[in-house]
Amino acid sequence: METGCIFCSIAQEKTATELLYKNQNLVVFKDIKPHAPVHLLIVPKQHIRSINDLTAADLPLVSELIVAAKNMAIEVGVKETGYKLLFNVERGGGQMVFHLHLHLIGGWIR
Ligand code: AMP
Ligand code: ZN
Repeated sequence: METGCIFCSIAQEKTATELLYKNQNLVVFKDIKPHAPVHLLIVPKQHIRSINDLTAADLPLVSELIVAAKNMAIEVGVKETGYKLLFNVERGGGQMVFHLHLHLIGGWIR
């Protein structure tokens, strides 16, 4: 838990944000400013700043984020139509919240 980190607070359920899915390692919730009809964030509970801070020890966690995204795509009905998975990395890559998160974006075609 990093003090002042909004995604740590959400992951620890210290905010009113509705979690669509949670397990021991990650949470999933809707992006507050969606860029598409479906825009979810898959967020590890562990505070990792960005992709740049990953180590070999984080490989299982990163795999879990991707598989969780795939499962959520099924859940929200975009598996067949397709979707984007995106990590923004640091300021130049558009990252605004410096707690690792995977965007699941789609739902343009139903
Ligand atoms: P990024 O630009 O990759 O860091 O993405 C951060 C995303 O988090 C943006 O799309 C924001 O709209 C979203 N966001 C920021 N604060 C919240 C929040 N409290 N609840 C849900 N989504 C949020
Ligand atoms: Zn955090």
